Amino acid sequence: MSRVLVVEDDPQLVRALVINLQAREYGVDAAPDGASALRTAAARHPDAVLLDLGLPDMDGVEVLRALRVWTAAPVLVLSARRSSPEKIEAFEAGADDYLTKPFSMDELLARLRAALRRTGPFPQAPEAPAVVDAGEFSVNLVAKKVSRAGRDVRLTPTEWQLLEILICNPGRLITQRRLLQDVWGPAHSNNSNYLRVYMAQLRRKLEPDPSHPRYLITEPGMGYRFEA
Ligand code: CA
Repeated sequence: MSRVLVVEDDPQLVRALVINLQAREYGVDAAPDGASALRTAAARHPDAVLLDLGLPDMDGVEVLRALRVWTAAPVLVLSARRSSPEKIEAFEAGADDYLTKPFSMDELLARLRAALRRTGPFPQAPEAPAVVDAGEFSVNLVAKKVSRAGRDVRLTPTEWQLLEILICNPGRLITQRRLLQDVWGPAHSNNSNYLRVYMAQLRRKLEPDPSHPRYLITEPGMGYRFEA
């Protein structure tokens, strides 16, 4: 069974996609925004992704770039954007196909089958673990394991969520607000002291010199960045 991740914030369209995909024996996960899409993709390892570009928290193209760091699973963009530059940007970010809304469900299903035929089912761990190797430590996004010098590093669920968001966006500034919202929820989007505490814990576990971090970088007053 192939697994498909549907990334779309329009509940009616999500419903239609889920019903049609399940009727054709696909396993389906759905994510209504970019942050949950990246978390779900890392956890479920989909064989294909259907990706809306207009998402509430970030642009779908950003989601695509973050996915392409670690997965080659086909990504079919579903978007109301019809201009050539927008399509070209999506293809350059790693899209495999592009359907403009509104699209016919039969055409979408045919293109999905074609994309899956080209790539085959995405290999599962342990043959091809989605591992990000930072040098000092490495992170397996599928097994949700971190190791350092050959030993497992134990992370709390909150530490893991923070680390996962950062390493899925290498080199990119992730704002304090977004980290707080994604990990603790919208009610906590101003509690930047949570972040200071948890980032300090992560650094103690992962950084060679926690007081001079080289992987988990603070951008003062703005947010955090992972440098591989
Ligand atoms: Ca949308």
